[in-house]
Parts: sequence; structure tokens; C-alpha cells
Amino acid sequence: MLGAAVGIVALERVADALPPGIVTRSAGADVDGELQPAERIPPTTTTTTVPPTTTTTLPPPPPGQIAFPIDAQPDCWISDNFGDCRGSGCSRLHEGLDIMGSKGADLYAVATGRLTTKYVATPGRTYGAGNGWTLYDEENDVVYKYFHMATHTPGLEEGDIVQFGDVIGTVGNTGTSGANSDTNYHLHFEYRPGNVAKDPRPLLVRPANCTFYG
Ligand SMILES: [Zn+2]
Repeated sequence: MLGAAVGIVALERVADALPPGIVTRSAGADVDGELQPAERIPPTTTTTTVPPTTTTTLPPPPPGQIAFPIDAQPDCWISDNFGDCRGSGCSRLHEGLDIMGSKGADLYAVATGRLTTKYVATPGRTYGAGNGWTLYDEENDVVYKYFHMATHTPGLEEGDIVQFGDVIGTVGNTGTSGANSDTNYHLHFEYRPGNVAKDPRPLLVRPANCTFYG
């Protein structure tokens, strides 16, 4: 107790001895509510987040076949429009198969691979891929394309690796599929072994509740 009392007296003497205008502060006091530089908290280290993919129970296809890329709900149907003329004077061909589906139905990765391109729809723009992905199965050298999606699965970005059966987006009508019409919800699906477009229709697993016309 004696030592403490002596200390207080000593501090008071120091304060008394300071010239007018000098204000004493106790150690660690901040200025205008801000921390002193020495007390700043270092930034927390950034952790790498793993995309929250959803693995489904999509059954693996028989050898040589392609899993059905849409959660097939009752309004699922497919025509036979691979190779149809597109553009004026058939300037290009339709390099995919359009799979009509329910708005918002899940879309599945039909192979384990890397999402090499992310297509993002521009509001008001009704041409092009809309929202979509390119999925590259490097092991088998097959490129798959998914166009006109409503949404990408949150957290998935270009360069990510997805597993077979992961949900990578939902069925929509962005891009050339008829956006703004609130109709024509479908997946434009491309199958490109060696990056050459082939008709996926003969190889697709056919869910019981999806109708194949033609
Ligand atoms: Zn198409």
C-alpha cells in the first residue's frame, strides 16, 4: 500500500511539473476513438472456401451412355434438333440438343471435370448462351456445354472441379432460348468428344418421365 501511495504522489508531481498546454494521457489511451497504430488488429488470414456443391443420387450411366443432365420432371421432353439450321441461310448448325424442362429444375454434371467457362447472361440481352457452363472431362477428352440456365449453383466459379452428379445450375430461358417470354425453358446441351459436336440424343439415358419425340 505504501508503494502505491508513493507512486500516485510521484505521478501527480510529474503532471504538476509539465508546462501549460501539455496533457498527460494514460498508456494505451486512443485518440478520437481510434486505436493507436501499435494496437491495430492484423487482418485475418483469408481462408479458401470450397464451393458448396450438392451431390445427388444421379445413377451412373451404363458404359458408353450419357447421364440425363436434367432433373426430369413431368414437363420434360426432347425433340430431335441436333444439326438443325441456324442463322440466315443456314449459316451455322445447331450444335446441341435442346432438352425442354421445368423452370428451376436441377442440372447435373454428367461427368467429373472442370468448369472451364462460365457464361453469364446480360440483362436485356436475348442472344447467346445466357447463363451457362462449359464442363471439360479431361480424362475422356469430352467437352459438355450447358446453355440458357436460370442460375449457376452459388459458389461455383470458372476453374472449379465438379464431380459427376453435382448440381451445377437450374433450368432457365436465358440467352437465345426465348428470354422475356416466360416460356421455352430448356437446356441447350452439347456433347463434344475431342471438342467436335456430336448428337448426344442416341447416348442419353432416358428417364421414364421424359418424352423423346421424333
Ligand atoms: Zn439449342
